[in-house]
Amino acid sequence: MTTISMRPAEICSIRPPTENFSLTFRLTRNCYWNKCKFCPVYKFGSKFSKRPMQSVRRDIQNLKILNDLLDGAGIRAGGLDEHGYHKIKSLIEEIEDSFPDRDSEDRHHTTDREAFPEELSWFFQWFKETPTIEDNMNHLIQWRLNSAFTCFLGDADNLVLKPDFIGEVIEAVREAFPTIQRFTIYGRTRTAAEIRTLPELSEYRRVGLDRVHFGVESGSDTVLKFIQKGVSKQQQIDGLIKTRESGLSCSVYVMPGLGGTDWSQEHARETADVISQASPDYVRLRTLCVFPGTPLWNAQKNGDFTESDDTTTVREIRDMIEQIDTETELLSDSASNLLPINGVLPRDRDAMILIADQYLDLPEREKRVFALESRINAFMGQYGGLTQDIYRSIAPYVKDGTVDFTDMPDNEIEKSTVFVRSKLMP
Ligand code: SF4
Repeated sequence: MTTISMRPAEICSIRPPTENFSLTFRLTRNCYWNKCKFCPVYKFGSKFSKRPMQSVRRDIQNLKILNDLLDGAGIRAGGLDEHGYHKIKSLIEEIEDSFPDRDSEDRHHTTDREAFPEELSWFFQWFKETPTIEDNMNHLIQWRLNSAFTCFLGDADNLVLKPDFIGEVIEAVREAFPTIQRFTIYGRTRTAAEIRTLPELSEYRRVGLDRVHFGVESGSDTVLKFIQKGVSKQQQIDGLIKTRESGLSCSVYVMPGLGGTDWSQEHARETADVISQASPDYVRLRTLCVFPGTPLWNAQKNGDFTESDDTTTVREIRDMIEQIDTETELLSDSASNLLPINGVLPRDRDAMILIADQYLDLPEREKRVFALESRINAFMGQYGGLTQDIYRSIAPYVKDGTVDFTDMPDNEIEKSTVFVRSKLMP
């Protein structure tokens, strides 16, 4: 058996749901802003850094070596049988992780896992900040099994990188992985509005970047200030319009619930206004989840923020859909959302509002049961099954292989719903 010595490539654990099966490369690490109160992802020990081109190129080459090994072993993109899994396992055994000399780049990103709050340990076990060869193989296999045509370049705001840097990476990735047809990044609207000129944004498009995913979250200046998003409503609009004008596809995330009970209506109205003025190609809903240990969690404990219940949040989404006055596609493609509201506006407006109204018209007890069933289904969709602790909480209500919550007390339903929700990856 030959042993190949190599250093695993860094991959992006945090990426948009539409990029779940993309090949990923880390051009920057973490988030230089890192102040948004609701955001748990880079709060615990992670520092921002720009990675040198030579490190990114080394990752591209290392993933190419692994991809060639999969090809050489006859593992094709169409599906995996048991024989295929055995081959992959023995390939992984033939490769040893080796970190010959930790350079200064590595020292910058060591995350202090001891700093994670206990409640977040589930969430953070999905972070692959220092991936292994097995993680790299799994990453490649997921990508190959899902068409092998998309690539996400992380982490949080790669508009801070000059277009020629992004262009050089795209060229190197294309050379190594010729099936890739779509390249996307995350960006901050403020960077698009204030740091990048229109010619620079057009240059990203020219060098092969297809889409920027922006975390808009809210259009309300009150909410943006409270959550420390570091951007104003007008800057959001300016950044999005400029990006669209450059020819890049524009995908925005908005966060129902982020206004809490105090600013719910303002949050819906102002967010709809940003969407109407900026007219992004896609609007994606990602409902607020207050994660333990975040500044928003602390604000809630101190009484400075009151989380909306499902009814208020659904009403907020309904208002937003009613008020958006432009052509755009609105999607609920995050496990954080209660309802599957998807469609093209204005064409599908009535059908989308009907889904919200059908939920709002349910009696309170049915709403509770619906919420638990919906969160359990989302969990199973995300992880392919239930964990033992979730199963234990609903086991008394499983009869003949089906779940029947008729006898489950309201407080237990609510407790189980919160528990399952806390384990969903947004
Ligand atoms: S800009 Fe994005 S990644 Fe950075 S703190 Fe805010 S939400 Fe989190």
